[in-house]
Amino acid sequence: MKKILVVNTGSSSVKYKLFDMPAETVVASGLVENIGENGDSAQCRHHRKEDGELQGKISCRDHREAILDLFQILVDKKKGAVSDLSEIAVVGHRVVHGGERFSAPVGITGEVLAYLEKITSLAPLHLPLNIAGIRACMEIMPDTDQAACFDTAFFHALPRSGFLYPVPYEWYERYGVRRYGFHGISYEYLSEEAARMLDRPVKDLKIIACHLGNGCSIMACDRGAACDTSMGFTPLEGLMMGTRSGSFDPAILPYMMAQTGLSADRLLNDLNTRSGLAGISGISRDMRDIVAAAENGSDRAVLAFDMFVHILKKYIGAYFFRMGGADALVFAGGIGENSPEIREAVCKGLSFAGMDVDPEKNRKTIHGQSGRIHKKDAGVHLLVIPANEELMIARSVFGKKERP
Ligand code: ADP
Repeated sequence: MKKILVVNTGSSSVKYKLFDMPAETVVASGLVENIGENGDSAQCRHHRKEDGELQGKISCRDHREAILDLFQILVDKKKGAVSDLSEIAVVGHRVVHGGERFSAPVGITGEVLAYLEKITSLAPLHLPLNIAGIRACMEIMPDTDQAACFDTAFFHALPRSGFLYPVPYEWYERYGVRRYGFHGISYEYLSEEAARMLDRPVKDLKIIACHLGNGCSIMACDRGAACDTSMGFTPLEGLMMGTRSGSFDPAILPYMMAQTGLSADRLLNDLNTRSGLAGISGISRDMRDIVAAAENGSDRAVLAFDMFVHILKKYIGAYFFRMGGADALVFAGGIGENSPEIREAVCKGLSFAGMDVDPEKNRKTIHGQSGRIHKKDAGVHLLVIPANEELMIARSVFGKKERP
């Protein structure tokens, strides 16, 4: 048995999960959230298999300090999950962007870090924090292997016709403007799990999967290789999301700058934080609130729900045609895993394409359960699979470690 630690450094949080591999048992997990939001006070939660949850406030000013605190808890004599950090065989880091270079997990070296530093402008809000997280772990565990798994890597398989935008070619050549795609770690896991549920090799399957959380995206995986995805140069493109607009006509930006006098940055901020479900409903970014308000007759909530479905359905149709059909349509993420209403509305009227929802199975498959929600003889398997990026990272780095 080997212990693999997975570290996920987000914009205001650090999460970790400690796995025993190859059993895939979660030995402990924890997070520090609200880093940098309330002065130096952040919430810390820690969960160990044997004795439930510990909670508390800790004082940390940045992600590095948050990681130092988490590691203290990890080796705590009473509540810790390891007696010494040397028990951890590898640390696997979730890294938002691997640029044009990384198509698979990689062992972290100074040279890898230098490359990531060079491409921070591709993900200025997240990549510097990922790098800070890696450096903090290297500082604490200088003798332990560290590996990076990239949210973009799965989409290296996209064909050129799928990752290029129809803009002047030098935008790509000189400035790296292309579709990179995100949620790739999640999609690798969902594809593997879908294949397992169908008991067929992923190389034989055409899979459409949608990861619908706060950020939402969809991808098509044609016989083991991603062939299209909705997020692009940044995670702003594609589906309607909780607070992000998804795709819209870029000419609206200069038009709105001229109309309002607001800067491009300010409008971009609106597209990231005041759009999507929140922007249209004026109520909430949370699909639970939208569904409840729609049931209570809110016209704007009904509109937000309908737009979410309309746009998602459009992409499903496009990917279905792109691959010449689909064996499975997978729902994941907070909305995909918990909203029978969205799943039913998205598949409504799609019997002709083999997407027949069984209402009873659909209603029952919620709260982190995986399952099949299609009718008995449906042509397309409709699957709900809880996203599990941490496990995918643990599998990837464990596999890497074991390879000679
Ligand atoms: P993240 O993308 O931050 O990881 P999650 O995958 O946890 O987020 O998804 C969060 C979203 O899931 C919430 O904003 C909410 O809209 C949605 N959600 C959670 N539970 C339900 C539910 N019961 N019904 C509908 N939507 C839900």
